[in-house]
Amino acid sequence: MIPEELKNRLEASYGTLFSDILHGYGAKRAVTLRANTLKTTAEQVAAVLTGNEIVFERPAWYSDAFILPSADEEDVRHLLLYADGGLYLQSLSSMLPPLVLDPQAGENVLDMTAAPGGKTTELLALSGGKALITACERDGARFARMQFNLSRQGASRVNAVRTDALMLDDFLRFDKILLDAPCTGTGTITEGARIRFSADYLAKCVRAQKKLIGKAIRLLKKGGTLVYSTCSLLKEENEGAVDEALRLGAKLLTADIPSEIPRLPSREGTATILPTQVYEGFFVAKLTK
Ligand code: SAM
Repeated sequence: MIPEELKNRLEASYGTLFSDILHGYGAKRAVTLRANTLKTTAEQVAAVLTGNEIVFERPAWYSDAFILPSADEEDVRHLLLYADGGLYLQSLSSMLPPLVLDPQAGENVLDMTAAPGGKTTELLALSGGKALITACERDGARFARMQFNLSRQGASRVNAVRTDALMLDDFLRFDKILLDAPCTGTGTITEGARIRFSADYLAKCVRAQKKLIGKAIRLLKKGGTLVYSTCSLLKEENEGAVDEALRLGAKLLTADIPSEIPRLPSREGTATILPTQVYEGFFVAKLTK
């Protein structure tokens, strides 16, 4: 049951497309994973899945991504390759922000709110293991989980820092920053899930997002790239944060998202992913200063 407060906000933003969102919320989402090329290759992952009679599809836009239409997560967790960190259970939509950030070897990259670290290891893998990544997380238990994941995924060279990102020294500068912000999670709702939503919770998230995006802009080198993402569909958390960044002098670039990915209308240059059986609802914006 979608809380009335959330339903009203989504209807106000998306009009008749609200029924598509509801359809996505009601779907049983397929298990998806990413081959961790810090440890193995996508071909090896494909061979292991085939050897274990797990049927898969591969989206054309990312050779490391796999969709398992009929498996469940337990089938994957039983694989040796899972325990070895050769693959990581990750939603397809959440693979997009690192792809948009496009980290390169030698670049100084900040993953500002990073736990449990799925995007951190993806960033490192995308740079061929050669970006200089700092991953920041405030919450103790989540930080410990991230450290475990980084180690298992062969990403121990990431500089993991347990701190509030707002406390990072303002003199630091990064070539690229990923701000995968804490949010209400209104893109990730699925059939039967417990939904935590209220106007107060939304306001709290929006306040945190504004502070974090302001900090990200301060920490970004001139000409650097900032990717802002959430797993929310709410404009307050998405375009609202972009507005704050623009107010602080950032410029909006185009986040190139493969055209086959289903989208909801959003501010030009940004992408809001429609929740479906395969995709989680997500928002991605690319900025510079
Ligand atoms: N990027 C992660 C991934 O892909 O695995 C998911 C990040 S999750 C959306 C947001 C994270 O930000 C949470 O782990 C939360 O504890 C953390 N967080 C919230 N506020 C923070 C802050 N001010 N500084 C650092 N981390 C923060």
